[in-house]
Amino acid sequence: MRKAVIAGNWKMNKTVSEAVELICELKKLVFDVTDTEIVVAPPFLAIYRVAQEAKGSNIRISAQDIFWEEKGAYTGAVSPMMLSDVGCKYTIVGHSERRQYFGETDETVNRKIRAALGQGLAPIFCVGEVIEQRESGETFSVIETQVRKGLSGLSPPEMKDLIVAYEPVWAIGTGKTATGEQAEEVHAFIRGLLKEVSQGTADNTRILYGGSVNPDNVDGLMAKPNIDGALVGGASLKAEDFARIVKYKR
Ligand code: PEP
Repeated sequence: MRKAVIAGNWKMNKTVSEAVELICELKKLVFDVTDTEIVVAPPFLAIYRVAQEAKGSNIRISAQDIFWEEKGAYTGAVSPMMLSDVGCKYTIVGHSERRQYFGETDETVNRKIRAALGQGLAPIFCVGEVIEQRESGETFSVIETQVRKGLSGLSPPEMKDLIVAYEPVWAIGTGKTATGEQAEEVHAFIRGLLKEVSQGTADNTRILYGGSVNPDNVDGLMAKPNIDGALVGGASLKAEDFARIVKYKR
């Protein structure tokens, strides 16, 4: 049985004091949740304070990105060890905004995933097609390439902590959610690809859906057999909306 993961990606939103306010509000709303892993990914500068506030609660902390080297002359970068040190247990890797605006490639994504796993951080590995690729029937080949290259060289034991997020780029921040059926067929396809590496591991890997998830559509999405959670952007910035998503109806 896969435990659901609901992760909030706060992106480049919230000052440190606003982030502390949000985590404090959220803690009160979800303290009674035990059957879902709750994760928030604040901006780097707020991680330390948010992690302090979340200590002892059922909310875990993720980074939004990571670099693969441990330390050294890499101006502006943040290492896996630094993230662990401030209380991160997860990191998003390969978000489409990193791919689009910051030149992330399947190769750099692979290096980041390996670095995260090497430090004991669970990578939330994002894949997804753009609208032109969906409309020209390339969705599955795009996802296959991203998954194969992103996970290249990983062994089944290394993949134990991996989380995958299917995020159709056309659904991110647009209000256009994939239907449960559209998402489910890609999730099932991703699980099939993971099974080529290891059947047992693939059965346990959580595959999240991301793209305009909100309190109104979460129940339908979560009812699908291969949708094991959600990566939530906009709706994670409001404690009440995010709490409702965390408490989706089983
Ligand atoms: C995201 O940033 O990963 C995301 C899915 O954003 P939104 O929920 O706003 O579409």
